Amino acid sequence: NDKVLLYRMGDFYETFFEDAKTISRILGIALTKRSHGKGGDAPLAGFPYHALENYLPKLIASGQKVAICEQVEDPKKAKTIVKREVIEVITPGTTLSEKILENKKNNYLCSIYLDMDYAGVSYTDVSTGEFFVAKMPLENVADFLYTFSPKEIIISKDQEDVISALLKKYPEVLYSKMDNWLFTFDYCYDKLIQQLKVKNLKGFGIEGNRLSIISAGVVISYLQENYKQQLEHISQISSIQIGEFMFLDESTRKNLELTSTIASGGKEGTLISIMDETQTPMGGRLLKQWLSKPLVSKEPLLKRQNNVKYYYENEPFTIQLQEMLAEISDIERMAARLATGRLNPRELIFLKRTLQTIAEIDTYYHAKNVSFEYKPEFIDLHEAIDLIEKSISEDAPLNIKEGNIIKEGYSEKLDELKSLAGSGKEWVVSYQQKERERTGISSLKIGYNRVFGYYLDVTAVHKDKVPEDYIRKQTLTNSERYITPELKEYEEKILGAEEKIAELEYELFQKIREEISKYISQIQKNSMLIARIDVYCNFAYIAHKYNYVCPQIIDEEVIEIIEGRHPVVEQTLPPGEDFIVNDSVLSNKKEQLLIITGPNMSGKSTYLRQTGLIVLMAQVGSFVPAKSVRMNIVDRIFTRVGASDNLASGESTFMVEMLEAANILNNATTKSMILLDEIGRGTSTFDGLSIAWSIAEYLHNNPKVAAKTLFATHYHELTELAIMYPRIKNYNVAVEEIGDHVVFLRKIIAGGTDNSYGIHVAGMAGLPYEVLERAKEILSNLESNELTPNKQPRLAKRQTGRHIDKNQMTIFDIIQE
Ligand code: ATP
Repeated sequence: NDKVLLYRMGDFYETFFEDAKTISRILGIALTKRSHGKGGDAPLAGFPYHALENYLPKLIASGQKVAICEQVEDPKKAKTIVKREVIEVITPGTTLSEKILENKKNNYLCSIYLDMDYAGVSYTDVSTGEFFVAKMPLENVADFLYTFSPKEIIISKDQEDVISALLKKYPEVLYSKMDNWLFTFDYCYDKLIQQLKVKNLKGFGIEGNRLSIISAGVVISYLQENYKQQLEHISQISSIQIGEFMFLDESTRKNLELTSTIASGGKEGTLISIMDETQTPMGGRLLKQWLSKPLVSKEPLLKRQNNVKYYYENEPFTIQLQEMLAEISDIERMAARLATGRLNPRELIFLKRTLQTIAEIDTYYHAKNVSFEYKPEFIDLHEAIDLIEKSISEDAPLNIKEGNIIKEGYSEKLDELKSLAGSGKEWVVSYQQKERERTGISSLKIGYNRVFGYYLDVTAVHKDKVPEDYIRKQTLTNSERYITPELKEYEEKILGAEEKIAELEYELFQKIREEISKYISQIQKNSMLIARIDVYCNFAYIAHKYNYVCPQIIDEEVIEIIEGRHPVVEQTLPPGEDFIVNDSVLSNKKEQLLIITGPNMSGKSTYLRQTGLIVLMAQVGSFVPAKSVRMNIVDRIFTRVGASDNLASGESTFMVEMLEAANILNNATTKSMILLDEIGRGTSTFDGLSIAWSIAEYLHNNPKVAAKTLFATHYHELTELAIMYPRIKNYNVAVEEIGDHVVFLRKIIAGGTDNSYGIHVAGMAGLPYEVLERAKEILSNLESNELTPNKQPRLAKRQTGRHIDKNQMTIFDIIQE
């Protein structure tokens, strides 16, 4: 069993054996022992039941699955051992805890089921009710997982080896291995139609699709088993068509620093940190989903763009709308809490306020005469609003057992009880006064405790004045406590009323919550619309804020970015430094592969990344940092940037480079965009140069992979490719030499360069003068000694004239001889 079992014993949750060791380690609580007869001592660890709220999230966050076993009968009524049952299983992929969930981040549970060639992959976020399924070739599974990064993956025991091999490169993730019999078509089909309340799955486009149905059905049966109930808020499944969106593989996500930076892994300095100005948690989550799945077909992309344009062009409207959006609570997650009976009274008030805000937003769209094209079709939920409005008090507590939930006027019975309880208290006050007068003991007090209920307290000095009808209950050092039949009679009424009030409030609240639960799917629909307009407004807002333009999507196979900027670098330059804009013009027919040379630190990487980011942002539906953009949709963006070891998986720098290059050459199409930032650096110069050269040739000559490519390199020898191949062009980053110094102009200009300025850059880094001088000497020796022992030029220098002499050897003939 892979779960920690929390076993309820009286006021404690106890754990035993391995579980005890685990929780004591994670929670830092004492590990004790209990004698276990001949079996020796059993390790034991536990905590008070009310600490569950704090400890459970810690266990889940550290990757544990936890089964909670409760007493399910009243201990007072049990004859032998109190009956106990596992009432719920909580796992990292299924938690609803607000202490674990992040506002603007989804929390996904996934299931994978394979045959020889394909995989069905399903995933759901229990906290929001979203549920997706896709079928894809096996080799896409790992990359697909990056689009949603699940917390937990359910697999069948007999596919464990295949799947873990398939996901070898995916970061460690929690697997839940289930029995094979669960992964059968009929069982899963039934689970799905029962959950989605449909007769068949045709409406969801997955009817007859075995792999999809099994993977989705398994998710549902896992949830039902863990929650011991059917989750009402998961009522739809969206089938994702692979090919509807762009696959962003791991290295591209990483290299373009979409959601975490390469250096620190943090959020600061990422694309999302610049692009996320969403006002609602739902919008924040949707933005992330869109960013990880850029669109690849024109129609849906233009639709998004059109919407963004609308909000962009109506700026005052949008600003006011965003102010309203900021008032909205996370009703998507509230719907999930509603479905699982977890929504508390205070949240119900927040739900009401949000539904009211949505109604106001709806009115606002009407008032501004927004045309139907852009107007979201909210569902009118005034009935739900009215119910909460008239029943739940504005300052309702978090706790459902505390009382003070229900408004006056909602339930006659409750109001009666309350007035009884109230008048009872008044009676106590007047009774105290009466008894003081009767006995002449002016210090006589009426008190209350749990054991005796109400009592009359008389200080020892006045003991003699106590009348006969007082019944003594307790003697303390300084006073005596008495009761009277009259006092007891009233006590019963008051206490009875208070108990009944709490019970009735709880009952009424549950009924109201159930009533509101009928609106779950409508709440979800409105929440989805809010998320969308939030993201549209977000794109419009950042477009104004950062001065972005709307990219024009064209059918011609051209990408033409005029005066492009890097969205993150331009925001993070030190004060006083201006970002230098650059054009990126690529076309399949003319400028297919650009060789970009220039020294270290001159801005090559920034240029490559900005080109990739602009294309990506455009295909997400956003405006982009440039003066103008005309572009053909790309099917994938491939990147190979910098050198980083992946020692964890036993791969050297060079191996990582080559794996990434292989992935690109095997999967790119003429519709792709390839960004190569240095190739072949992790090996000897000649090796590296040869590989770089031959990769460039392949990308130019092989009609299947002739993608639009930016190739930044140190090997200025590669500029010779432009002499030989019509669609390869040279560019370099302009540098100005002032005496012994170089100044980076950050401007990409046509033509190659034959100077790396490596020694200059080393000088800027503060290498000692002597080292630099000696390096210059060696360099000049090397440069003058360009002949091999056979008196052949080693790396023949040429003018960058366009004339090719067929008899002249290319550098590769020379290297190879
Ligand atoms: P290396 O080969 O060492 O990776 P590089 O030539 O790729 O260097 P970048 O990392 O792109 O250089 O740029 C170095 C720094 O120069 C950036 O961090 C940024 O601060 C600045 N920079 C780059 N491009 C521009 C630009 N267009 N405008 C202003 N500053 C820029």
